[in-house]
Amino acid sequence: MARSFDELTAQEIAAGIAAGTFSAAEVTAAALDAIAARETEVQAFLQVTPELAQEAAARIDAARAAGEALPPLAGVPLAVKDNMNLVGTRTTCASRMLETYESPYTATCVARMLAAGCIPVGKANMDEFAFGSSTDSSAFHPTNNPWDTARVPGGSSGGSAAAVAAGMVPLSLGSDTGGSIRQPAALCGVVGMKPTYGAVSRYGVVAFGSSLDQVGPFGRTVADVALAMDALVSGGRDPYDSTAQDVVPGFAAAAASAEDLAGTRIGLVPAFMEAEGLTAEVRTGVERAASALEAAGAELVEVDLPHVDAAIAAYYVIGPAEAFSNLARFDGIRYGYQEPGCTNLADQSARSRAHGFGAEAKRRQMLGAYLLSSGVYDQYYYAAQKARTLITEDYSAAFARVDAILMPATPHAAFRHGEISDPTQMYLSDMYTISLNIAGNGGISVPVGLGADSGLPMAAQLVAPAFADERLITYAAVIERALGRAAGGSVLGVAPAFAGKGGELR
Ligand code: GLN
Repeated sequence: MARSFDELTAQEIAAGIAAGTFSAAEVTAAALDAIAARETEVQAFLQVTPELAQEAAARIDAARAAGEALPPLAGVPLAVKDNMNLVGTRTTCASRMLETYESPYTATCVARMLAAGCIPVGKANMDEFAFGSSTDSSAFHPTNNPWDTARVPGGSSGGSAAAVAAGMVPLSLGSDTGGSIRQPAALCGVVGMKPTYGAVSRYGVVAFGSSLDQVGPFGRTVADVALAMDALVSGGRDPYDSTAQDVVPGFAAAAASAEDLAGTRIGLVPAFMEAEGLTAEVRTGVERAASALEAAGAELVEVDLPHVDAAIAAYYVIGPAEAFSNLARFDGIRYGYQEPGCTNLADQSARSRAHGFGAEAKRRQMLGAYLLSSGVYDQYYYAAQKARTLITEDYSAAFARVDAILMPATPHAAFRHGEISDPTQMYLSDMYTISLNIAGNGGISVPVGLGADSGLPMAAQLVAPAFADERLITYAAVIERALGRAAGGSVLGVAPAFAGKGGELR
């Protein structure tokens, strides 16, 4: 019986291929077909890679025919954020600066997903160099939210989130420096996880803020995100990233263990729930998640994070300072865009940077240059590092009392393209996500249904102590089980305007 490929979870696709219900080639054809049918309206991709996908699918089908054991995500289509290197693709970071840059090697995170059997179907759109919360700052085109194409998918990993929400892929990779996985996941109604800093290798991911950046997966179900996490950490510590740690793959097991939460304490931060700017419908959604955890036996406890108010200010010092250092390599000589007609090196660099970078990328770098200059360094950068210590200590103190903290992921639902033009207003859309990048611990955004006022996806965010990321999976799976109703047990499934559009699987 014919059905749409987008009804299947990653788990079901891999199981179906292993059982011979369908082949990797058939799934790949369905994914490419779904992309072709939906992409004009969503514009999630900067590059679709049918040849790479078909080659990978053929290898899976040949391995199965030869009787080899298949890896856990064999035949599962994957979208990769365009700041991650993948040989055979350009890695543009959605910037004119890297418009023609060919990946010289494959990032560890991508290589591990491919080793787990994923099929790379394309590179996903993003805010330029991951600066942003809307994907509107892509130098090439915006991405539309599959739940309402007049709205943004969030950012900076907006293409990765939208591709999953539109049913074009069951899994994607994003990066999160201040919220860029969790915020678009929330706005698109999918699950998105930022593991603890150091859990996943950053090797081969174009750096934004090296002390903040972390790679993580998007999926429509918690179990699928868990499988992707297992793939990302398997193989152990990556010797090419000095900050990467050894994490034992136990995420799928953590998803399966989501039953009784008796003895578990979940923290709620009253100041977050009463914050100015938090919409009533998001608050209701978080309360729904809290009730689900309580019904499973968890005890809800109030906790305080007294210095978290300083997180956005600290982030907009540390982030731009690190970005300014990292983006200095785009000098118009070694990488990327070279302004023609320059007669000396200084001119070559200045004019290439002036024309290669968009407005937000320039704003961040000018801010970073200023913040790191002598005289102001102590006043801002040093102060931000002190705030970072205080915020980290706040989380440690809270985690002495609770196993995890539940909070909003974003203050409001997806906004319209162009609706937020003031950069500082845009920065506030990360008010709930940024403090985790400052402190380093992990967080997950899980859908909790549609908002009563907007009719758009709502989400809750769970936060765990550093390297206790499997708890995020367990508690998110409890929430999903209580609230889930769509395909595969997911809370919202594929956005209705796109569900079943192309991508038929025989
Ligand atoms: N929106 C935040 C910023 O603009 C976070 C971006 C990110 O996580 N990459 O910096």
